[in-house]
Amino acid sequence: MAETLDFASPLLPFVDARKAFRHEQKVAGYLPLATLKNLSAMLTDTEGAVKAVLSFWFDQDRRRRIDGELWAKVNVQCQRCLEPVQISLGEQFELAVVSTEAMAKDLPTSLDPWLSDEETLSPADIVEEQLILCMPIVSTHSQCNAAIVQDVLEKGVGIEHSDQVDEKQASNPFSVLATLKNKPDTH
Ligand SMILES: [Zn+2]
Repeated sequence: MAETLDFASPLLPFVDARKAFRHEQKVAGYLPLATLKNLSAMLTDTEGAVKAVLSFWFDQDRRRRIDGELWAKVNVQCQRCLEPVQISLGEQFELAVVSTEAMAKDLPTSLDPWLSDEETLSPADIVEEQLILCMPIVSTHSQCNAAIVQDVLEKGVGIEHSDQVDEKQASNPFSVLATLKNKPDTH
């Protein structure tokens, strides 16, 4: 992705699947987050846009490849304080267009399947799915994350520590020996 790409225009709504791979079409642009309905459901607001570039080409195994990259800043709910937190998403992806589930299973693990039998492909659908896949499972503000770590250190480890001590005292035969050994000293 070394060449200069233009993200000032909206991403093309459709590409012709019969030509895009043969002509090694490359599309770049932006998509307003508000137009991505499935992603929007995961966000606290739909301000902003995702920038993306998609390259269509045939690889040496004659697979129809869609390689791309995306960048977005989105607002999601912090899992600790429940206020919005902005997260930066960035993802590179390598897809192979397949028309059946069986073809998808035969792909090398480095490639993800894009199941489509259509004569047109929607860059927006591809970008939205990749965005959803790269969303973190849990998002927090950095200070909220620090507070969670602090809670675990203070409460979590504390409880585990006292449990361990009880168990050791109950089950460790050496502690019994130690008690016997120490007995003469107490007299
Ligand atoms: Zn927070």
